[in-house]
Amino acid sequence: MVLREERELVVEYGKKLSQEKLSVGTSGNISAYNAEEGLMAITPSGMDYMKLKPEDVVVMDLDSHLVDSNRKPSSEWALHTGFYLKKKDIRAVVHTHPKYSTIFAVLREPIRPVHYAMAGIGTYEVPCAPYYMYGTPELAHTAVETCGEGRAVLLANHGLITCGETLPQAYDLTANVEYTAELAYRSRAIGQPVYLSEEEVKAVYESFQTYGQADSGKKGY
Ligand SMILES: [Zn+2]
Repeated sequence: MVLREERELVVEYGKKLSQEKLSVGTSGNISAYNAEEGLMAITPSGMDYMKLKPEDVVVMDLDSHLVDSNRKPSSEWALHTGFYLKKKDIRAVVHTHPKYSTIFAVLREPIRPVHYAMAGIGTYEVPCAPYYMYGTPELAHTAVETCGEGRAVLLANHGLITCGETLPQAYDLTANVEYTAELAYRSRAIGQPVYLSEEEVKAVYESFQTYGQADSGKKGY
């Protein structure tokens, strides 16, 4: 099977997204990229994550050609290829519509650091990209441009994208951004939260680069 390892990872982390309620129903899509092969494994369109098998995961190249598939790819495949083409060090993209992050996307406000958990995104806050309809090349373009050097971006009135050097890393960023968004939302409901400063966030980011088990493939947390 082409890209077996990446397809198995996509199945494993698709189920985690569903179990941890980071995706609602069949919304959202995830991919893993094999740079040597120049191929990505991406979730199929509209399938229940809990029923997903490795053979359902679609393999494509970055020029929009289907390489190995029994299914239609996610309607957001161009969003994923856009990230791999522009950000050369990333190997995974997670796109979801988690509730609290999406509330900030509806407000078209960035998610600010009320907690250090999201410092792994590599920017001070999660910026919000302008609105374009799902599945369009304009959305793919604006998402990666707004993300800049960071690892997370909101899509106005839509959802969240994170990326990473591995799928576990991109998944952890989604979980930590959503946790921070919930804290920001809830603290604003009863008062005015105090945001961490640029220096404080930067210090945590630097600490995350060396924190944790050396062989876990995981940075931070
Ligand atoms: Zn979406």
